[in-house]
Amino acid sequence: PVSPDSDRRVSARLVPFGNRQFLLSVRDVTRIHRLEQMRRDFVANVSHELRTPLTVITGYLESLAEDAREDPQLAHTYRAMEAQATRMRRTIEDLLALSRLESGDGRPPETRPVSVPAMVAGLAEDARVLGAESGLTVELESDPDLWLQGVESELQSAFSNLVSNAVRYTPPGGRITLRWYADDAGAHFEVRDTGIGIAPRHIPRITERFYRVDSDRSRVSGGTGLGLAIVKHVLQRHDARLKIESRPGEGSRFTCSFPATRILHRPPRSASA
Ligand code: ADP
Repeated sequence: PVSPDSDRRVSARLVPFGNRQFLLSVRDVTRIHRLEQMRRDFVANVSHELRTPLTVITGYLESLAEDAREDPQLAHTYRAMEAQATRMRRTIEDLLALSRLESGDGRPPETRPVSVPAMVAGLAEDARVLGAESGLTVELESDPDLWLQGVESELQSAFSNLVSNAVRYTPPGGRITLRWYADDAGAHFEVRDTGIGIAPRHIPRITERFYRVDSDRSRVSGGTGLGLAIVKHVLQRHDARLKIESRPGEGSRFTCSFPATRILHRPPRSASA
C-alpha cells in the first residue's frame, strides 16, 4: 500500500542495467489489486449464497431415504442425487476455505505450537482406513519431538489434502509413505505414493484452482480440484514451500518444507500435559 489508509498499491523492482547499475521500476498495480479483491469477494459471496439452498436440498433428500430403501427405482435416483449434493457441498466448503485463506489483511496469521507428530499419526490412520479396501499399505516415519509454530486447522487441512490425494491417485496394492522430519534446511512433511504420477508438463499448473490432469478421474474419486490450491495458500502463510516430484506410472512425492525458525524442538510443557 502507498499509505496505510489507501488501497493504492505499487510494485517496485530493481532491474539490473548495464555494469553495476540498476533501474528502479515502479508499477501502479492498484487496478489489478482491486480486481483481485472483487474476484475474491464474488467467489466468497456466491459460495456462501449456495450453502443455504444446498442445506435445504440435502434436508429434503434425507426425508426420501426411507422410501428409497424400499423402491429400487427411487434408490438409484436417490444415490445419484446424494452423490452430486455431496460433491457440491465439498466444492463450496473448499471455495470458502480458500476465500478465508486469501481474505487476510496481509498480516501473518496468529500461530500456536502445533503437535505435528499427533497430526500426521491421525492422518496415517485415516489413510489406512480409506486405503484398506484397495489394499494400500500406509507407512509413517515421524520425529515425535518435532513441533511447529503454526495454525493447526490450516496445517491439518493442507496435510490431509496431500494424504487424500495420495490415496485417491494410487491404484490398489500400492504404498503410501508419510515422513515428518527435520534437517539443516528446516522441517519437512513428505507424502510419497506409488500411484499414477503426473506428467512433467502438468506439474507447474496443478496447484491452480480447478486444474486437473484428468477431470473425470478427479471427480469420480471425490476431488474438487481445489485441494492443492489450498495446500499452496496454507504453505505460503507458513513461509513454507511445496516441492512436487513425480513420474507417470511410478508415483509422486509432495514435500512441504518449513523454515527452521518455525521449529519447536520439544513440546511446550502446558500443551503436552
Ligand atoms: P483434485 O481434487 O482434483 O484431486 P487437487 O488440487 O488436489 O484436486 O489436485 C489437482 C490435480 O493434481 C488432480 O486432479 C490430479 O490430476 C493431480 N494430483 C494431485 N495429487 C496427485 C497424486 N498424488 N498423484 C497423481 N496426481 C495427483
